[in-house]
Amino acid sequence: MDDTPDNHIEVPHDHAVVLGAGLAGLLAARVLAERFARVTVVERDELPADGPAFRPGVPQSRHAHVLWSRGVEVIEELLPGITDKLLAGGAALLESPKDFLWLSPADWFGPLPGARILLGSRELLDWTIRGEVLRDRRIRIRDGCLATGLVGGPDGRSITGVRLRGGDPLPARFVVDATGRTSKAPAWLTALGHQAPETTRYDSHLGYSSRYFTIPPDPARRWHGMYVQGRPDSPRGGVLVPLDGDRWLATLVGNGEHAPPTGDEEFLGFARSLRSPALYDALRGATPLSSTAGFRRTANEWRHYERLARRPAGFIALGDAACRFNPVYGHGMTVAALAADALRKEIRTMDTAAVPAAAGRIQRRTTAASEVAWQIATSEDLRYPETEGPPADRTTRVLQRYMSRVMVGANTDPAVAGRFFGVLSLSTSPNTLLGPSTMFRVLSKWRTPTAPRTTAYPAHHGPPGTL
Ligand SMILES: Cc1cc2nc3c(=O)[nH]c(=O)nc-3n(C[C@H](O)[C@H](O)[C@H](O)COP(=O)(O)OP(=O)(O)OC[C@H]3O[C@@H](n4cnc5c(N)ncnc54)[C@H](O)[C@@H]3O)c2cc1C
Repeated sequence: MDDTPDNHIEVPHDHAVVLGAGLAGLLAARVLAERFARVTVVERDELPADGPAFRPGVPQSRHAHVLWSRGVEVIEELLPGITDKLLAGGAALLESPKDFLWLSPADWFGPLPGARILLGSRELLDWTIRGEVLRDRRIRIRDGCLATGLVGGPDGRSITGVRLRGGDPLPARFVVDATGRTSKAPAWLTALGHQAPETTRYDSHLGYSSRYFTIPPDPARRWHGMYVQGRPDSPRGGVLVPLDGDRWLATLVGNGEHAPPTGDEEFLGFARSLRSPALYDALRGATPLSSTAGFRRTANEWRHYERLARRPAGFIALGDAACRFNPVYGHGMTVAALAADALRKEIRTMDTAAVPAAAGRIQRRTTAASEVAWQIATSEDLRYPETEGPPADRTTRVLQRYMSRVMVGANTDPAVAGRFFGVLSLSTSPNTLLGPSTMFRVLSKWRTPTAPRTTAYPAHHGPPGTL
């Protein structure tokens, strides 16, 4: 593609453009507005004006979304008061696994403290965050506007704007690609003669199917959600979470040939085939509010923008556009928040004019936010034989065996559970699981099998009607 006609466009020094008004894009816009006088967010969807609503650009919103405590904290730092607004909108802040029935690959978790999670519809999250971000007058959204490419500067080394379908190019000193998992930025860069990033990919062929329900109240029910995890010898799982609007969302998952059905008739039958009947029992008396929605493109994919030897100034990629994860570990939104926080820390003391040239450093710092989530998702996925990707090395195999033992410990030992959930919520370093006291507690349970026969219900909560 020839970019010469755009080379003479005047580029205002104080304007940044963010592509995509998903979670990563909105939080990046919030942070960039601390340095740039104007930030334009370009979004291909027409955004709902009257309240939380589904939109095609975020199809994953029809599936359960868990926001881990670290994500809640970072978003609260960026947008003070947002947690209360989300709770007022009907989201719930729960303690996991205490408030959950949670069957791990080993056994049921006891009612232990672990980490907080925020549960609510993805539509509510996006609506509430967007409303808060747009309170800043420096930020404006151009919705219903598809980005179709990047504009290269006359020096051949910088990005100076974006191309829009059916409109003039939009000049900018700094462009952030946050268009999510369907990002076309690698092709846009090569069209301008720049390198495309290498990609590392692991695909465990996990399928998702989800359906909304109402569940009649039950005074004997002491849980507020449920997670029945699969494991390699029984790779079917499901999660049931409360949502705003007095709804519940049931999401079923399975790898390869165990992918859940996308038809309504088979939904409950699949729920019945999980390792425990608990989720099926919870749905038996429930009323479906929707048909079943499927999602299949769940591979972990890291586009290594941080490794580009020759990279254009004035351009970075964030969120799923840079690195996406198998969603079953619930990390994408927290990583998007951590990346926005890293962007903020990197540009905080910079002169606006210096930001474009620092793109390489900024990209490395924002990308670092993905590392732990990537390690968790890929090493867990590699336990499944159908996973495609670079094979596990020796260190990964040793860590997998150790983590199976950590899981056994975390099921019953509050100290191990605390550290395990600290890591899973991306609040603390994985090294905390390798400290001597944790190792001692974990290895002291070496006789307990890591994949015992599953009991139908945990000791602290029997089947319906037995309490
Ligand atoms: C099935 C599923 C379940 C998930 N569950 C969880 C979970 O439990 N917890 C969690 O933390 N994460 C979860 N995730 C991950 C989470 O959804 C993503 O990590 C998160 O949405 C990333 O945000 P983003 O802004 O990068 O991308 P998105 O939210 O996908 O937003 C991208 C935006 O870019 C827009 N766009 C795309 N192309 C263009 C273009 N050319 N021009 C203009 N706009 C464009 C889209 O319309 C969209 O608005 C899940 C993902 C899936 C698929």
